[in-house]
Amino acid sequence: KAKAIGRGNYCFYEESVDKAQEERRRLKLDLASALEKGELFLLYQPQFDCDTGIVTGFEALVRWRHPALGLISPAEFIPLAEESGAIVDIGDWILDEACREAAQWDNPLRIAVNLSPVQFLEDNLGSRIAETIQRHGLAPERLELEITEGVLIEDEARALDMLRALRAKGVLLAMDDFGTGYSSLSYLRQFPFDKLKIDRSFILNLQTDPQALGIVKGMIGLAHGLDIPVLAEGVETESQLAMLRLEHGDEVQGYYTGKPKPIDEYAALVQATAGQKANKYVPHGR
Ligand code: C2E
Ligand code: MG
Ligand code: MG
Ligand code: MG
Repeated sequence: KAKAIGRGNYCFYEESVDKAQEERRRLKLDLASALEKGELFLLYQPQFDCDTGIVTGFEALVRWRHPALGLISPAEFIPLAEESGAIVDIGDWILDEACREAAQWDNPLRIAVNLSPVQFLEDNLGSRIAETIQRHGLAPERLELEITEGVLIEDEARALDMLRALRAKGVLLAMDDFGTGYSSLSYLRQFPFDKLKIDRSFILNLQTDPQALGIVKGMIGLAHGLDIPVLAEGVETESQLAMLRLEHGDEVQGYYTGKPKPIDEYAALVQATAGQKANKYVPHGR
């Protein structure tokens, strides 16, 4: 196909592929030392109760400040870290950092941490997590591990054993990006997650697309039928929030209620006592 668009284009195509591969190689190499050089840091995005607007927890989201390339998104570097295996050490650091942070809060909110499918392959993941929360004195039910169905694809029986082992440690398990995978439904039948996070692609067109609304309604009904609370990701507008309230969504997370930021900028949310005005979101939108 490349040849059909002419010789010049063909060469250009090959060059840009080389360039992209070269960049990936370089990033992978740099990633190996990013942790020890202190280039990784966490942002925190608040989650709120849909009806009351009171904060329920935060999701930790990793960032990489590359010395030459600037800020790199996790969507770009996590897959590279998974390929190189660096994700194991990086994931341990993220977990440690997030637990250390949350253990200091006056307000005993939940802290949600994303787990990579590659971390899931480590047999001692459960004991490492238990050791981390103990070391920081964090109550296990304050830690919520977010996993995508990617963990269940490779070796399903093994993944289910791991989920049960984690659950036995007292931590919570959330299914992230719900609705985007191939067989989210069959996994729900096999493992009772503590929360479903509806992917933001379904929230995006909630106002304009009746199909999207139908799907979100269906997902909420499904989750509630299984007694599982639902969090809607990517809420960017007042009217999306209003619709989710109407449909009895449980929690929301998105730019409208709070962007991912350094935790210092959420000092009021993590310090105040539950129920006070200071624990509620201040709407922003995009
Ligand atoms: P995710 O876990 O589904 O995280 C939600 C993503 O949506 C975050 O992107 C967040 O910044 C973004 N987001 C939140 N609200 C809104 C909104 O209202 N509008 C829009 N357009 N976006 C919103 P981020 O931080 O770039 O992370 C992307 C993905 O990278 C995450 O998706 C997660 O899969 C992965 N990731 C992030 N941090 C970590 C981590 O610490 N460990 C691992 N293994 N993966 C991580
Ligand atoms: Mg997540
Ligand atoms: Mg998600
Ligand atoms: Mg997502």
